[in-house]
Amino acid sequence: MNKMLKTFLREFTFRRQLSVTMTLGILCLALFSSLVSSWQANQRVRRNLIEQGQRITENLARQSALALLYASPDNVAEAVRATLAFPGVASVEIRDTARRVLLAKGGARSAEFPKSFVPVAGAEALAVLDAESEGAWRFAAPVYSQPSAASPFQVQEARRERLGDVAVVMSKAALAQMTRDIFIANMISSFSFALLILILIRFLTSRMTRPLNQLSASMARAEAGGSKVRAVLSGPKDIADMAHAFNSMMAVLEDRIAAVSHAERRIRHLAYNDTLTDLPNRMNFMGLLNQAIDRARDKSQTFALLFLDLNRFKNVNDTLGHDVGDRLLVAAGRRISHSVRTDDSVARFGGDEFTVLLEDLASATVASVASQKICLALATPFEIDGHDIYVSVSIGISVYPADGVDGNTLLKHADSAMYLAKKSNSGHEFYESGMEATISEQVQMEGALRRAEGRNELLVYYQPKALLATGALSGMEALVRWKHPEFGLVSPTRFIPLAEETGLIVSIGAWVLRTACAQAKIWVNAGMPLAVAVNLSGVQLRQHNFVDNVRAVLAETGLDPALLELEITESVLMEQASEALSTLHQLKEIGVQLTIDDFGTGYSSLSYLKRFPVDCLKIDQSFVRDVTSDPDDAALVTGIIALAHSLRLKVVAEGVETVEQRDFLVQCDCDSIQGYLLSQPVPPEVFENKMLGADFDQTGSAPIAH
Ligand code: C2E
Ligand code: CA
Ligand code: CA
Repeated sequence: MNKMLKTFLREFTFRRQLSVTMTLGILCLALFSSLVSSWQANQRVRRNLIEQGQRITENLARQSALALLYASPDNVAEAVRATLAFPGVASVEIRDTARRVLLAKGGARSAEFPKSFVPVAGAEALAVLDAESEGAWRFAAPVYSQPSAASPFQVQEARRERLGDVAVVMSKAALAQMTRDIFIANMISSFSFALLILILIRFLTSRMTRPLNQLSASMARAEAGGSKVRAVLSGPKDIADMAHAFNSMMAVLEDRIAAVSHAERRIRHLAYNDTLTDLPNRMNFMGLLNQAIDRARDKSQTFALLFLDLNRFKNVNDTLGHDVGDRLLVAAGRRISHSVRTDDSVARFGGDEFTVLLEDLASATVASVASQKICLALATPFEIDGHDIYVSVSIGISVYPADGVDGNTLLKHADSAMYLAKKSNSGHEFYESGMEATISEQVQMEGALRRAEGRNELLVYYQPKALLATGALSGMEALVRWKHPEFGLVSPTRFIPLAEETGLIVSIGAWVLRTACAQAKIWVNAGMPLAVAVNLSGVQLRQHNFVDNVRAVLAETGLDPALLELEITESVLMEQASEALSTLHQLKEIGVQLTIDDFGTGYSSLSYLKRFPVDCLKIDQSFVRDVTSDPDDAALVTGIIALAHSLRLKVVAEGVETVEQRDFLVQCDCDSIQGYLLSQPVPPEVFENKMLGADFDQTGSAPIAH
């Protein structure tokens, strides 16, 4: 029972609980009310029947007086028949005072009662309920002699004599029948009424619980994971409030779910993509690489892995700030992506490193062409914050499966190739076995270069310049040398790029400047006021305190600023055109001379050339070399000289090795020359002996006079 109740409470809906409870209650009430009213009706009927029995008995008693008086049953026969004719009357008995039966009719049921019935005492001939059995009543009444009613006033005084008694047995069948009928009628009416009420209540509860049901249905939908579930705001206030609360809860929940899923997507995106460029990140790329390996293995294809590293990116960060650096990376990433096929995966591997996967490669040349396209795409200057930023890139390429069959090996080899591409400034390199050994040599050299200055392994050699018109020695170029105890004399073409990349050029350059100025001052003091030309790296030019350093060196050495000439290559000048301009002006203010070195190789724009406060152009030796054999070069050199003169600039031709070259330059009205024809770069003591002493003439054809 208890268990049933628990199940009922737990598993039935509220509405069903309510209707079951109501139904049971109303049915019980109907049953109870019909029982009570049946009982009441029964009591009333019983009373009526008893009264009726009494009246019948009294009637019979009155009519039996004569019969008893004369002991003649015939006298009462009619009355007895009439009495027996009453419904329910089972038997009639008349006795005299001696209790002798005068008449007994219809013996049915009289057996249920004791033989004798109590005589009823009293003056009134009133009937009493003498006895009662299960199925019948017995009424008894005394029979008195009838007074002679001559005068109404005598009635009281007349003596009434008891003649005997009558008894009437009346069946209770009528009572039972009526009780049954009443009960049935009551039941029918009560239950009909109950049914009506139930129907009404059911209707009402369904009306009342509808909002609750709707709410619970909404909740069930929400529980089942339905989206945008809202409850209908109807019904009684508290339920409407609940629905409102539910809706608010759902709205909050949906907001939270949306926020969580957005955060989840964002986290996934962040985990797999670089925040700055939005390109796949290193982890993502490793996954892509492994997938490419699986595909290539299954289809027996080859693919190339390109490892890109921007050259001198650190300088951009250091001089223009990280914000510009970041924007440059974004723009560079975009250009790289646009210069390959859409199917090729581009990723930001870290820092200024990018990786590209070129799948389904027909031949290695495709990778080479793609690399060139990338280099070309990055060659156009980036315009950021009003700066024209020149970026170049070094690309290392490894090919699956020749250079490795797993991701890490392919990456390592592409990285090695990139390293060498950077060292050789070649743009891109394919991986070749044995590259690692070369790299470790480079790494060794980098370590050695770091120690070179402290170990006095750096030297400055000087190469003379002479005026073509007079043949007079007009100055010299300071060229750095590195004498390493193990590597021997290392060419600046090998270690200057390394020094620029590592930033060592700043201190090396400063040292060369100081050494050259000091040397020039010594020669000034010795009566040889020769201008000394010092080469500048782009890295130095970007140092914000560079001008101050120059000023300090001049002050320190006491050299006349007019005797210091700074050479800046044309490509560096073009790369940093906008930033360099103010530095150049400041240098001009100090009074130093400015020369554009390697002119003709850096695609100068005429407008810049006009704006730069330079004094001299130095024609690159590659044009001078073939000036006598290649008409194009001859035309170019002639043109450069004419252009320089039109801009009121002096012209130096470098790399002059032969008399023919010199003669051609004389014809073109070139101002000065520099080259092996005069002298190779030599240590200062040799320069001193050659230039100032008798040895100078040993160069043979040198037209220099002093
Ligand atoms: P550069 O400034 O163009 O220097 C001229 C280079 O041409 C020197 O090479 C010089 O030895 C060489 N040269 C001179 N005359 C002739 C000739 O008649 N024929 C041939 N074939 N070559 C000739 P070096 O000394 O090896 O310097 C190479 C480059 O290294 C320089 O090119 C310059 O760009 C850089 N460099 C040298 N010293 C310094 C320095 O102190 N600072 C910086 N930043 N760069 C330097
Ligand atoms: Ca130079
Ligand atoms: Ca040069």
